[in-house]
Order: sequence, then C-alpha cells, then structure tokens
Amino acid sequence: MWRETTKHERNRRIFEEELDAFLPKRILDFHIHVLPDGVLADGEQFHSGGPAITSYTYEDLAQDLAEVYPGRETSAVCFGLPRPDGDWARNNAYVAEGSDNKRFYGLRLLDPHRDDAETLRADLASRRFLGVKPYPDYARNADVSETEIPEMLPDWAMEVIDEAGAIVMLHIPRRERLADPLNQRQISELCARYPRAKVVMAHIGRAYYLQNIVGQLDAFKGVPNLYYDLAMLNNWEVMEYAFAELPADKLLYGTDIPIALAPGKSVEINNQYTYVTPKPWALSISDDHGKLVFTSFLYEELRAIKKAIARLGLDRAFVEALFHGNGAALLGGVLGKGK
Ligand SMILES: [Zn+2]
Repeated sequence: MWRETTKHERNRRIFEEELDAFLPKRILDFHIHVLPDGVLADGEQFHSGGPAITSYTYEDLAQDLAEVYPGRETSAVCFGLPRPDGDWARNNAYVAEGSDNKRFYGLRLLDPHRDDAETLRADLASRRFLGVKPYPDYARNADVSETEIPEMLPDWAMEVIDEAGAIVMLHIPRRERLADPLNQRQISELCARYPRAKVVMAHIGRAYYLQNIVGQLDAFKGVPNLYYDLAMLNNWEVMEYAFAELPADKLLYGTDIPIALAPGKSVEINNQYTYVTPKPWALSISDDHGKLVFTSFLYEELRAIKKAIARLGLDRAFVEALFHGNGAALLGGVLGKGK
C-alpha cells in the first residue's frame, strides 16, 4: 500500500504526537483529484509522486480521509485529472456523479479545445459542478511553459463562469510562476474583468520555495475575488510569509490528494525546489540509498502549516477558518447564488 496514512504505525505516531491536538474538528480539503478507471488510455498510468496508478475513486478518497485525519469530519472539493490525453468527459461525469454538495463538491475539467459555452453553462447550472479546473497543458502549446492564462480560460468560458458566479481552480503556467510579471498582470485582469468569478490560485501560484513568493503578492492586494490554496506546499517559510501577507479569509487548505498521500517532501535548495521521494519520480530526486524514512507530503504540509501558525502566534479562529470556514463560505456563496 503506497498511501501514507495512519494505517502505518510511523504515521499514526506523527498524527498522535504532532497533529491530533492541532487539527480542528472539521477539515475541508479544497484540492483533490479523483479519476475512475478508463480515463487514462490502456497502459497509461498516472505517476502519483512515484507510485503509478490508473484510478483514484471516491471510495479510495473516503477511506483515505478517514485514515489520514482520524476522528475528523472531512469534506472535499474534487476534480478530475487534467491530462490532454485523458478522457475528460468520462472524468467529469464521474465527478458530477459523486458531487452531493454536502460532503463532496465538484469542479469540471475545462478543455478549451473540446468544450463549448453551451455545455459549460448547462453543467454549471446542474449544480453538480461549482466551477472549473483549467490546466496549462490543455492549451496544447509545443512548450507548455509558454502557455498564458487567457489560453487556459478563453473569454467565452469566463463569461459563463462569471455569469454563474463559479469557481476557477487555477494552476498558473510559466517558469517563473507567481513571480512572472505576465502572470501577475493576467490574474489581476481576470479577477477585475470577471468580478463574480471566484479565482483560486492553486499552490499559492506554485510558490513552493521562498524566493518565488517574497515581494510577489503586492499585485494581488485588495483583489476581492482571489483565493489561495496550500496544496503540496511543504515549506514553512512560504506559509509564514503567505499567512502574514495575505487576507486570512482568502486562504484555503488543500492537499492535492492522491499525490499528497505518497511518501516524500518538497525541499528548497538554492532558490529552487524539488521533491525528494523514496522512489524515482519525474519531478523528484530520489533517495537511492534508502537512507530516509518518509511520511506523506500531506503530513509535511500540515507540519509546515502548524509551524508557521505557531511562529506568527495565530489563534484557533485562524486555524478553523483555514481548514474549514473559508472554504465553506466560498462554496456556500456559489451554491446560494442559484437559489
Ligand atoms: Zn492538483
């Protein structure tokens, strides 16, 4: 079993000693991928932080949430796996089916080359999707790092999203990520032009290392419809900076399950980041010598959040809002609009 949960004694100990007293009663994870069998073509696999998988179902998720956060009331915002070679319609149908808007909330993969305004409008109106998940790869540029945000979110899609007051889970493109001036301008323009859209910058703009975030948040100050999720961030200094600089009610806990359940940690080295994993992974350097005992990316993220909160002396109200209240208010606002 590749998933690092409290089923493993070493994780059970971490949970009891470091996390149990810290975590609030209710946990809403704003960033989770689910996919049924058949989304990936035969023989294709998804390398989830080292382990290769072909599906990650709601059943897997329910079991993992119980085993990662024992004794907690958990809920999640879920979306498919954004791969241009995947069956995005099948993945979207699966997410729609699993969305009860009570425990599981769905976002729709948005492929600007295969979707159209009419389908998107109908899907958002069905309330089985509360927003969209675009992705840089769906722009299908020869070099994905050249992708610009408007290519992921064309006007026809943003008009429908704005009209519905829906969520955009935005994984920003480009090598410089959060620090890219073009990204900063295009995000600010997007939020201003579509004020009813709720834009979530995933992974705080992929700022996995400190240098990428310091001094880079000014462009977003006072933007009322911009939110930030913490998925896969493991660096406490990044968290500390973000918690000090960003509006507390715009921060959303998220993990990137299933990847976040794999063993590993993201580390900063000389103003860059990499993942370190026990098994080789395209995005990591791996512990070939088998020197380390790992826990999940997810528990490393929780450790970083906890440390940043302690250093800043933030109170329990901050913790509860981060793990549940902020996300619940955001989802409630989107759901409430259609009534
Ligand atoms: Zn993700």
